[in-house]
Amino acid sequence: MNSAKLLDQYGRSLTYLRISLTDRCNLRCTYCTPQHNFTHIHPREILTYEELLRICGLLAEMGLKKVRCTGGEPLVRQGVLPFLERLSTIPGIEEVCLTTNGVLLEDSAQGLWDAGIRHINVSLDTLRPERFKSITGRDCFGKVWAGIMALLDLGFDKIKINSVVARGMNDDEIAALASLSQQYPIEVRFIEFMPVGHNKWGKQLVVEVAEMQSIIEEALGTLRPVASERHAGPARLFQLEGAKGKVGFISPLSQHFCSTCNRIRLTSDGRLRLCLFSDFEYDVKGIMRRGASDQALSRFLLDAVQNKPENYSPESKTGCPSCTRAMGTIGG
Ligand code: SAM
Ligand code: SF4
Repeated sequence: MNSAKLLDQYGRSLTYLRISLTDRCNLRCTYCTPQHNFTHIHPREILTYEELLRICGLLAEMGLKKVRCTGGEPLVRQGVLPFLERLSTIPGIEEVCLTTNGVLLEDSAQGLWDAGIRHINVSLDTLRPERFKSITGRDCFGKVWAGIMALLDLGFDKIKINSVVARGMNDDEIAALASLSQQYPIEVRFIEFMPVGHNKWGKQLVVEVAEMQSIIEEALGTLRPVASERHAGPARLFQLEGAKGKVGFISPLSQHFCSTCNRIRLTSDGRLRLCLFSDFEYDVKGIMRRGASDQALSRFLLDAVQNKPENYSPESKTGCPSCTRAMGTIGG
């Protein structure tokens, strides 16, 4: 058993891993899909489930507690349910969760429950079917909604809706989306639109959290702050009067949260990424496929996490934190 701990040089304990299981996706969200030179990663270059379980097992020995599987769209990868089940049984890992676009959720909800998953984030930026089609390129609003309802019916503990807000895209639906938290025991989280992977980002498209908050308060009443839970992410949480659920805000641009960041990421092609906004990566797959022992692999991971940047690079071209890789390969 390895007694070393995943601590970086600034004393942050890195207990949360996000894995992009695949760069493939069944939607083409305008804010996520690169505008040009979009090629998929060769299947040979994607980490196998066995490789992922090995990495997670070693990280868990060094203090990893939470794993989120994302993508691309994680539910399009074959064999994902048995993989999640095995991941949940790794000693030390207390929480395995999923971020999905929800298109395949209705059919997978029972399987996810049976695999031991209880916490699911579903991305949904609009409640209007036509607009859904124009944002994502596919006419699938009904499927996503049915998926969310299936999670509620099965009694999943933590259901979150992630809404990326962009000016002119869906900023007129902020209050309608927030009101879902009044009707359902769901946390609706609003995310500032980020510049990633050569998407169609522009500063004028960003709606800052402060503005979203005042739109909601004007329409629905006071947002009362509530405490975050264990292993909570960067969302600041609130509740509307009498609501069953919560409203959260994730503000990577206007109020960054680097000093408390506990995350590391594994890209679908097997690179360890220490900050969403730093393109510096460590080739875990490379050393693993060259035959590294468990001891050597653990050492590599431990040395790598030391170098997590204190905060994102301030001198990016956009004047904002940004990254050049496509979001689907990193997983958000
Ligand atoms: N396909 C799954 C989904 O959409 O939930 C998982 C992968 S997706 C890359 C993970 C999260 O990243 C989603 O909640 C998505 O809304 C968010 N995301 C993608 N592009 C973004 C951007 N440019 N700014 C902010 N969030 C973004
Ligand atoms: Fe696919 Fe998720 Fe990106 Fe939309 S946000 S294109 S669903 S990976």
